[in-house]
Amino acid sequence: MKKALVCGAGGFIGSHLTSRLKSEGFWVRGVDLKYPDFSETTADDFVIGDLRDQNFVERVIDQRFDEIYQLAADMGGAGYIFTGENDADIMHNSATINLNILEASRKRNNKNIFYSSSACMYPEHNQLDPDNPICSEDSAYPANPDSEYGWEKLFSERLYLAYNRNYGMNCRVARYHNIFGPEGTWDGGKEKAPAAICRKVALVENEGTIDIWGDGNQTRSFLYIDECVEGTIRLMRSDFEGPVNIGSEEMVTINELVDIVTRFSNKNIKINHIDGPLGVRGRNSDNNLIYKKLNWRPSEPLEDGIGKTYDWIKSQIDKKSY
Ligand code: NAD
Repeated sequence: MKKALVCGAGGFIGSHLTSRLKSEGFWVRGVDLKYPDFSETTADDFVIGDLRDQNFVERVIDQRFDEIYQLAADMGGAGYIFTGENDADIMHNSATINLNILEASRKRNNKNIFYSSSACMYPEHNQLDPDNPICSEDSAYPANPDSEYGWEKLFSERLYLAYNRNYGMNCRVARYHNIFGPEGTWDGGKEKAPAAICRKVALVENEGTIDIWGDGNQTRSFLYIDECVEGTIRLMRSDFEGPVNIGSEEMVTINELVDIVTRFSNKNIKINHIDGPLGVRGRNSDNNLIYKKLNWRPSEPLEDGIGKTYDWIKSQIDKKSY
């Protein structure tokens, strides 16, 4: 039986990935500070612990795994990443996790590690025009991410590729672009735009008003979780090390995203634009490279994923009875 390790298996993407690996017949060990927030883990073995602790990491990577997925990171939406208040924690915590996992894997001769970088590592100066953001993989340098979260991702993706060069490892690096879907954080301050908008729209009364950070003309693309997991597994099992974008090319403004969500609510809603942390002006995935290397790229329309996500967040709100 093949064995996989999922670091960050208590998180949004890690818990979905664990279920996918289980459905393929893998024996899966999950590791995280916490269990998944919204459903029981499907992992065979789930170890609670802190991946910043080198001794703990060596205990968890105590055997050969066919595949290791490294998704653990100190992260959140714009309200967590772009205020500046969490910069030291974000850089220290996530870099330490990556340093520990790579070194423990090398010692146990575990060569196949997937690392989840982020589109937040792309230079700010290429993302000022909301209609024409540049996010092709080769535009990464000269580097100029707009957040320390992005700088840590850039450092760590280089670290994984350096282990490939110097220690003959087979690490794979993906740059995720805004992943969303059911069982993602939807309140509490670490949620991202699609979940926050679904929550606001679900909670507001008909003809009511919701607050949106900025003028709403900033652009983004959003990738549904199932396609993220599909791309992750395809990259892991390919002979291409990356870095490569895993994202959607269906770019929308935040105002358009609100319109899409609103359609599922059968409400009329007004938008109140307020100041807030924004990130870059425009961002979209560029999928030329992934298509060239993997002969695959995401294709699900944004609206389909939003419908499933809205229904799930609405059901969570109903359970919580606000
Ligand atoms: P998430 O926050 O839901 O999951 C990350 C998990 O890591 C959490 O469960 C957290 O408890 C765990 N973790 C953090 N510090 C830890 C520690 N010291 N020891 C053990 N576990 C620890 O995030 P996610 O959305 O599932 O993202 C997974 C990965 O993908 C992250 O590396 C993230 O940076 C990257 N990414 C995500 C997106 C997105 O839109 N979701 C976009 C770009 C990149």
